[in-house]
Amino acid sequence: MPSTYTDLIADVRKRTKQVSLEELKRRLDAREKVTLVDVREKDEWRAGYIPGAVSIPRGYLEMQAEQKLPDKNAPIVAYCAGGTRSALAAATLQELGYMHVETANPGFVRWKDLNYPIESPPELTDAQRERYSRHILLPEVGEAGQVRLLKSRMLLLGAGGLGSPAIMYLAAAGVGTIGIVDADVVDASNLQRQIVHATSRVGTAKVDSAATTVAELNPDVKVVPHKERLTSANVERLFDDYDVIVDGTDNFPTRYLVNDASVFMGKPVVHGSIFRFDGQATTFMPESAAKKLGVAAGPCYRCLYPEPPPPHLAPSCQEAGVLGILCGIIGTIQATEAIKIVLGKGSTLAGRLLTYDSLQMKFRELKLRRSPECPVCGPKPSITSYIDYEGFCAVG
Ligand SMILES: [Zn+2]
Repeated sequence: MPSTYTDLIADVRKRTKQVSLEELKRRLDAREKVTLVDVREKDEWRAGYIPGAVSIPRGYLEMQAEQKLPDKNAPIVAYCAGGTRSALAAATLQELGYMHVETANPGFVRWKDLNYPIESPPELTDAQRERYSRHILLPEVGEAGQVRLLKSRMLLLGAGGLGSPAIMYLAAAGVGTIGIVDADVVDASNLQRQIVHATSRVGTAKVDSAATTVAELNPDVKVVPHKERLTSANVERLFDDYDVIVDGTDNFPTRYLVNDASVFMGKPVVHGSIFRFDGQATTFMPESAAKKLGVAAGPCYRCLYPEPPPPHLAPSCQEAGVLGILCGIIGTIQATEAIKIVLGKGSTLAGRLLTYDSLQMKFRELKLRRSPECPVCGPKPSITSYIDYEGFCAVG
């Protein structure tokens, strides 16, 4: 019995037949009958494998061999990344009664370096290829981009005027996980603009109503309902799971809370707001998020407005009128930004405020600059924990 790992490997190499990659390629090109067994772990397999290979991670070899390799007389070549695991696997297969087992030496890493053909498991189903075909046709999205969208996680603050169109387009686009933070129920006066809801769902929770619409629109999307108000106590828990925050709330306490969490946690926030016939949107891209995504950083909200105005100077708490359609324009701009952030394509609104005047049908752009004196994202921050601002009213 070998007593050390080195002895064991030496013993196994003596007992198993090795085949070079050149020889293996020759046999595959000549369509010789050979069963390739990839004994690497599943995540290695997903990154690519030799075409035609059967995946049996080494830890499952004894359990799965009989089912996946029914013919014990068939010629088998096992491979792994470098040739060691496959040698051990080949020895195991021999012990299980397989008669013609060889091990590739070295393994897949070298196979890839030699530019020999490799295959990747399909990440999209046929139904998904069909559903997202107009995305896939765009070289900037493609299958890889669609897979990124399906794996992405976005948190929508509010299923109201801005959240409604954003949720619907993000769901249609195949954003895999959409979290929605909203504690309200659907009111009849919401339906003039909050298109994710429906007349039949007046009185039901907005998160549930939105989830119903999304389920009907795209079964690929998982909606995570957060039936609660955003506070300093739950903001980190809520943000933690998501890549991008889409902010459709419009009140001072939330705006500062979202901003500070964005900076502290390094989360990009796509901001939108509306008033009467006017809307605006921008993207807050904190430095750590920008670095991770390889994009330009921008100012935070406190770079522009270090502190909220005193409550008596804040805009009136009276319900303001709003042209319903305006929500569609601004909310879909926010959704577009969120999609671009996930895809890593184009330029975001970081450092730019886009304003829209629907009466004059004019878009304008204002430059926003980082402030070296910013109390939260500047070099000497004076704000390092969350502040609950009180005395403001929520407008939706
Ligand atoms: Zn700042």
